[in-house]
Amino acid sequence: MAKEKPLSVLFVASECFPLIKTGGLADVVGALPRALDAIGTNVTVFLPGFPDVLSGLTGTRTLAKIADLSGQPAKLIAGKTQTGLSVIALDAPHFFNIKGNPYLDASGQDRADNGQKFAAFSKIAADLAMGKIGRKTYDVLHAHDWQAGLCAAYLKAAGDTRVKTVITIHNLAFQGLFPKSLLGDLGLPADYFSNDGLEYWGKVSFLKAAIAFSDHITTVSPTYALEIQSDEGGMGFGGMLRAKAGTLSGILNGIDLDVWNPETDPEITHNFSAVNLAGKANNKQKLQKDLSLRPDKDALLFTVISRLTTQKGLDLLADMTDYIVSRGGQLAMLGSGDSAIEAAFLAAAKKHPTEISVTIGYNEPLAHRLQASADANFIPSRFEPCGLTQLCAMRYGTVPVVGRVGGLNDTVIDASPMAQSSGVATGVQFSPI
Ligand code: ADP
Repeated sequence: MAKEKPLSVLFVASECFPLIKTGGLADVVGALPRALDAIGTNVTVFLPGFPDVLSGLTGTRTLAKIADLSGQPAKLIAGKTQTGLSVIALDAPHFFNIKGNPYLDASGQDRADNGQKFAAFSKIAADLAMGKIGRKTYDVLHAHDWQAGLCAAYLKAAGDTRVKTVITIHNLAFQGLFPKSLLGDLGLPADYFSNDGLEYWGKVSFLKAAIAFSDHITTVSPTYALEIQSDEGGMGFGGMLRAKAGTLSGILNGIDLDVWNPETDPEITHNFSAVNLAGKANNKQKLQKDLSLRPDKDALLFTVISRLTTQKGLDLLADMTDYIVSRGGQLAMLGSGDSAIEAAFLAAAKKHPTEISVTIGYNEPLAHRLQASADANFIPSRFEPCGLTQLCAMRYGTVPVVGRVGGLNDTVIDASPMAQSSGVATGVQFSPI
């Protein structure tokens, strides 16, 4: 019998670990294709050609040249990541030759050309999936978040019904909203700007376009799939998502168990495992020294590794730092975000220099070291589509202390008396405000 041809899937996303990462989206886009490949699905990841993406690929070749992408030439570059993922990057320097945060400028504002560049990116992705560019066609175009939100609209506008489309909502708070004046640049039929298309209160929403035109919608945990169908959690899209309930699934995220493995992690000084935690205690001792915290193996050491935003509930935690210290606890924090939250934690570290350490910024090796050293990881989110840091924490024997929302609800088993007596508890959940 002839062997069945594997399904070919084009992931379309703006981030992918280890090439470019600002959060959990990158982790999933880096890990899920490898898991799918292992069960016989061929995944290629289509990414913007940011400098770190182009320089991080090996064995590169030019797949196609595009004479005119919004008035400038561009290329498609195919290559592999160090982890063996097949990637195609849109090398369009006029859009993607940028340093720092891919979406925000130096003053923290949305980059002025986000709408044009991610529309062009989605259009090229649709052309690639249909085989209009390159020689290959794909069975499925799997778009991730608003940056890839227009792909299904472009496929529909081209009259394609062969390529099936999936949108994964990693965070409904990021809706890809732009002024109506962007419409002229999109090259989509005028009647797509409607209530059941990409129009959202007089603006254009790339995420709404994806919800309207994709064959299937997924989000990253079963609880979040329910929350986003409510008026409160739906952030304006609740009614539309309720109407789409038949094609909406909540599928829990996972982490890459090779990247996050305390037995082999090259970023940590003392490797350890669930059956031998000695290395973890040594890591804690070393971290306390390196961060100039009071050396005390019995001090309960909390960590936070996060975007510092109100979504993550870290303004609440900032109010608790005196209390944590008064009870003998310590805090090692890594993150960046809202300037008021950064300032509150920096002030707390100044007040308690031997008990609280705050590192503002993004630092992948330090994130691993913190997970490998801390006793507990705070994730007091107000809402959390899935959350990955609690999964990394549990992998490193660090107790997650989480708000009972979204994926945090689905992944952490609260240490209730019943769960403790059954020996199944994995963390602590509390009701968020
Ligand atoms: P998000 O909403 O930011 O995507 P997730 O919990 O889904 O939150 O994923 C966060 C990912 O980003 C995790 O892999 C975490 O370790 C990482 N991360 C967050 N902040 C930082 C930081 N400042 N430095 C390094 N890694 C970080």
